[in-house]
Amino acid sequence: MDKSRFDVIIVGAGPAGLSAALVLGRSRRRVLICDAGQPRNAASHGLHLFLTRDGIEPAQFLKIAREQLRPYDTVTLRHGRVADARRLADGFEVVLETKDSAKEERVTARKLLLATGVVDTLPELEGLPAFYGRSVFHCPYCDGWEMRDQPLAVYGRGENGTGLALELSFWSRDLVLCTDGPPELSQEERERLAQRRIEVREDKIRRLEGTDGNLERIEFEKGDPLPVRGMFFSTGNSQGSDLAEKLGCRFTSEGCVDTGEYEITSVPGVYVAGDASRLAQFVIVAAAEGAQAALAINKELMKEDLD
Ligand SMILES: Cc1cc2nc3c(=O)[nH]c(=O)nc-3n(C[C@H](O)[C@H](O)[C@H](O)COP(=O)(O)OP(=O)(O)OC[C@H]3O[C@@H](n4cnc5c(N)ncnc54)[C@H](O)[C@@H]3O)c2cc1C
Repeated sequence: MDKSRFDVIIVGAGPAGLSAALVLGRSRRRVLICDAGQPRNAASHGLHLFLTRDGIEPAQFLKIAREQLRPYDTVTLRHGRVADARRLADGFEVVLETKDSAKEERVTARKLLLATGVVDTLPELEGLPAFYGRSVFHCPYCDGWEMRDQPLAVYGRGENGTGLALELSFWSRDLVLCTDGPPELSQEERERLAQRRIEVREDKIRRLEGTDGNLERIEFEKGDPLPVRGMFFSTGNSQGSDLAEKLGCRFTSEGCVDTGEYEITSVPGVYVAGDASRLAQFVIVAAAEGAQAALAINKELMKEDLD
């Protein structure tokens, strides 16, 4: 048996990739899972919405998942970045860069699963890193409960800022939409915000202030500071790797990889699961998509083996 050839290479060991590895490992498939070690929610202090794990530290969640993969000798986990991937006549070749190996490694597999997530675009605000994941967030579903009924700022402009402010108003009615300059709001958007009594502040933000990760106020270039307990922002995200693009996968107009049922992409043999492929970006959804992709991959491998 060619030791460097796997049944499946999974790129990304977040919830999507790890979940797929569990299903495939238990299906007796030789799996290589590679991870660059930059999970999307690294800044978070409590992972919510995952039944039986609500509030767990994200790093602890990943630790448990990795420990549960250890008994499966079918699964190999490698730390490193997959720098490139290409199609071969009978599968795929990836280029793996690890810290301990001086040169790149080339590994091949019959199928390729990309579970490389997305990277958030953070607002460029002085002081923000100290609060991100503690009192500054992007998702009301993930962190709105802890901030319920508190005075909150929403950072964003135009349709996105309005949408997030209206959504967040179901968690707190004490909201100010901070546009940090030109608000880019239509008359209709202004009216919808006014209906929910959401104030709009257009002044340029100077910095975020607070202690121990707790946001206390927003300071502006001019005018009074705004006392708040938290802030939610809407500045978007982008793909965590360019591998899907390099392999020629089709994308949706929202910038997700276009996957149909079971995370199958437009490129035969390439599957994409987790945040990279969907707009519902939750850990439990990513894990479910990983399992679905694994099922589809294994069915395809079984079919090939039986034929
Ligand atoms: C601050 C914050 C808080 C959040 N809170 C919650 C919450 O409470 N509940 C919830 O359900 N969701 C939450 N989320 C969303 C959650 O983080 C994502 O839905 C989830 O992590 C998606 O899992 P994934 O496996 O698709 O991607 P990720 O978890 O991002 O994992 C992708 C992995 O792929 C690796 N990778 C990328 N490119 C390569 C490459 N070329 N080679 C090798 N490895 C690569 C990355 O290093 C990373 O480890 C939060 C997000 C943020 C930013």
